[in-house]
Amino acid sequence: MDAIEICDERFRTMVLPNAPLETLGQGYRWLEGPVWFADHDCLYVSDVPNDCILRWSEEGGVSSFRKPSGFANGHARDRQGRLIGCSHQHRCILRTELDGTLTVLASHYHGKRLNSPNDVVCKADGSIWFSDPPYGINTDYEGGKQQSELPPALYRLDPATGELAVVADDFEGPNGLAFSPDESILYVAESGRQFDPQPRQYIRRFRISGDNRLSDGAQFHKVLPGFADGLRVDEQGNVWSSAADGIHCISSDGELLGRILTPAPVANLTFGGRNRARLFICASHTLMAIYTNVRGCVRP
Ligand code: MG
Repeated sequence: MDAIEICDERFRTMVLPNAPLETLGQGYRWLEGPVWFADHDCLYVSDVPNDCILRWSEEGGVSSFRKPSGFANGHARDRQGRLIGCSHQHRCILRTELDGTLTVLASHYHGKRLNSPNDVVCKADGSIWFSDPPYGINTDYEGGKQQSELPPALYRLDPATGELAVVADDFEGPNGLAFSPDESILYVAESGRQFDPQPRQYIRRFRISGDNRLSDGAQFHKVLPGFADGLRVDEQGNVWSSAADGIHCISSDGELLGRILTPAPVANLTFGGRNRARLFICASHTLMAIYTNVRGCVRP
């Protein structure tokens, strides 16, 4: 239980006293973008500066899935079971078809190149929502220095028509995003402006109307230490956020319920494994996992 910190009694039944925090692999540069494929019984995860996507399974451990990956970052899975990914280097959203070929779904908005899509989620109606901060084009380490052509923004893509719409643009650095179980709420991490000594950093909470417009967007929770990057929601509607000291579990009313403490800062996480109750953790250079007593929301 050393790894578990109970901040609110509600958290006590959400974790397991006898479940260890396990190391699944280590020695990576910066892990991000984990996504669980239940029918393949495996996890895909990006090592961004190493320009590769890794695959992990219980039987096979960690292997290389795609290298180079275009400095892939966030991932999700669409309603047809296809891998949807963010490419920093190619400044686009990519879909891996079931035969393994790649399709660019979005790379420009009004004729200008996207910055470096960071994280992505799929909605039940088939739309793909993603964040587009400039982090991947600010440095050669995470994708390659390139000129930004668009302000940071949050987008919704209709893959059937190719229509791309800005759903929010009052961000300095939109990052991880997750829907509430009924998709009435969208949580978005505002990670702030890179290299800013006092960046704006907190999780925002938007209401989603029936026609997919966002409203509100007020501060929902401020993660300390560090800041929120990747987010996931469990089936009860609690928000699980990455933080500098591990993973924080936050109730839907914004209260910190508890933490899972890790030896290194966490950039992203996802539920997977049996019954979606295992939490896979991108802890900087180490891939970790812990079984919990909650289940991830069915949508990634
Ligand atoms: Mg991110």
